[in-house]
Amino acid sequence: MKNLINDKEFETKFDAIEVNNNIPFTIIKKDYEVKEGKPQYTDSNKFGKSGKAIAVLSEKTISKYYSKNIEYPNPINFEKLVGKNNDNNIGIFQKCHIIGYHLSAKFSNFNNIFIGTEDLNNGAMKKIENDIVNIIEQNNRKILYKVTPLYMFKKDIVPFGVLFEYESVDNKEKVYGCKFCYNIQKNHKINYFDGSNRKIENILIKNNNNLNKLQDKSNVSSKRKQYKNYYLNIKDNSFHLVYDEKKKCEKLKGIQTKFIQEVTGKKENILDNNFTICKECEEKYNTKFNEN
Ligand SMILES: [Zn+2]
Repeated sequence: MKNLINDKEFETKFDAIEVNNNIPFTIIKKDYEVKEGKPQYTDSNKFGKSGKAIAVLSEKTISKYYSKNIEYPNPINFEKLVGKNNDNNIGIFQKCHIIGYHLSAKFSNFNNIFIGTEDLNNGAMKKIENDIVNIIEQNNRKILYKVTPLYMFKKDIVPFGVLFEYESVDNKEKVYGCKFCYNIQKNHKINYFDGSNRKIENILIKNNNNLNKLQDKSNVSSKRKQYKNYYLNIKDNSFHLVYDEKKKCEKLKGIQTKFIQEVTGKKENILDNNFTICKECEEKYNTKFNEN
């Protein structure tokens, strides 16, 4: 990875870079024990560094509904970077999923986030995730997917890039890939130690983008309220309320996990897709969610 840090084009490579001849090189025996739909995360360390995450992805794990506004806890140091007193960083850093939310529908997990740039999250990373979805959906594939945020130095709070490794774990013709993306933002130079950054180009006229972004932020909390976590039973097209992850609705007991999808979305969207709310849950739903 030294070559990647010292690459002179570091700050200009916005597309994913193929590494190690596109062959995954950190996948170990233990990684193959990860179960489909049950991503494994690594606890972030004491400096707030995010760790690797591994998932087995298939058509069953890809969400039908998802919300970008899912409420994720802030990574350690995130508040410091994008807090009230640091408007400078708004629109630069985002809470990025390590395993894309839509790749393996899972509720908020603190260890599935890292501090990434908007350009990474909406650019190279999104493209890789979409490519993976295409591979899976076109031929009903099962893919082992490992994502590792990489830090230059021990005490850095922002990774300089992210490594993506994947390989098929079904009986069909092998597919695999090994890609790296820099955690960079156009026209900004990032200090990965403390997350500070400065504009590379002098922009004389301040455009309205920052203002718009600030306004968007203030709307987020009201939008978030419209999204809830549900369990879908894709066998009988019912949906169920989530009390907590350990205590599922009685009606879901005995149902094979492959028929249960964890989703975040608006109730209306779920109803629109011909799911009906479970009778048992409806009563609880009315009392619980109408409070909001
Ligand atoms: Zn229910």
